[in-house]
Amino acid sequence: MAIWNPWHGCHKISPGCANCYVYRRDESIGRDASVVTKTGGYDLPLKKDRQGRFKLTADDGEVFTCMTSDFFLSDADEWRQGCWDMIRLRQELHFHIITKRIDRFAECIPPDWGNGWDNVTICSTCEDQERADYRLPIFLSLPIKHRELISEPMLGELNIEKYLASGLIEHVTCGGESGDNARPCDLRWIQEVRRECIRCGVPFTFRQTGAVFIKAGRVYHLERRLQIPQARKSGYSYIPGKDSGAAIRYQLPDRAALFARLSRSHFRNRFRLTEKDKAYIAEKGADTIRLHAQDIVKKRLSAEAPENDGKQTPMRGHPVFIAQHATACCCRSCLEKWHGIPAGKVLTQAEQAYIVDVITDWITRAAGS
Ligand code: SF4
Ligand SMILES: [Zn+2]
Repeated sequence: MAIWNPWHGCHKISPGCANCYVYRRDESIGRDASVVTKTGGYDLPLKKDRQGRFKLTADDGEVFTCMTSDFFLSDADEWRQGCWDMIRLRQELHFHIITKRIDRFAECIPPDWGNGWDNVTICSTCEDQERADYRLPIFLSLPIKHRELISEPMLGELNIEKYLASGLIEHVTCGGESGDNARPCDLRWIQEVRRECIRCGVPFTFRQTGAVFIKAGRVYHLERRLQIPQARKSGYSYIPGKDSGAAIRYQLPDRAALFARLSRSHFRNRFRLTEKDKAYIAEKGADTIRLHAQDIVKKRLSAEAPENDGKQTPMRGHPVFIAQHATACCCRSCLEKWHGIPAGKVLTQAEQAYIVDVITDWITRAAGS
């Protein structure tokens, strides 16, 4: 990976900019980040070494462009054409441009842009639903060969499935915010986007937890050095074809719609956690309960034809059992009827993960009430 910063400095235009790292870093050295200047590295893609060879080569990997500014900033209008010229010249390099100003893209492209260039990936950010619903329709309508999406810092729940379903977005990255004033990121938001990516076959990366991370309703404060490793360890990233999630070809239900539907079922609504269940959950903690749920789903539901199917889930004895009945994750015919997961097949890892998510989600809600 290489970094090319043709200019430096930017203006805040979006909630995601509130704790911009360019501003933070510049402040710490007494520099004003709102002053936009061309840098000494402006022509980096053309720079050569003593032997006359280009300094940047394909071996450097992707060239992340304009990381201390925004490529489509209006202050840089007179400098941008020179950059396009360099990008056109260096076909063997791949340029990765991340922007919060996708709405300026159309007026900023070179005359010979055509349907887009193969060696350029444009990455639009969307930190919340409002930004997604404004930027993504524009993003999808533009002539771009490679599109990616970043939600980092992720500031709220995001539903982007209708955009992912276009098949035009090649990768999604989500993550929390770091730094002293970091705003919280909830694992549920990450899980939801991940599910949408799996349903649409779009690779997904959970890059970092951020400094304030909410998991099962609990707030965790993480040091900087742990934020990326923790996200990696969570196993939430997803690569179609490599992870079994790709096997899902049908639509898993939207979580909110599912819970709304369940709440209208007299039968499902009867299931409540007892005080004893709640005490058990409090004693064991959310992570242990999740492990129990994983174990139960695997042992009692995942086989092609589970033993005693229809009667394998007791009516009491463990909060996971109660949650299974309450969410219609109790047997394979309920899973088919309520969740659209076909019976008569082995459950994939992704399907099991989905069921565990539904169960633990219900438990979190029920235990809190
Ligand atoms: S657009 Fe990016 S670089 Fe510019 S202020 Fe916002 S976060 Fe910072
Ligand atoms: Zn059932």
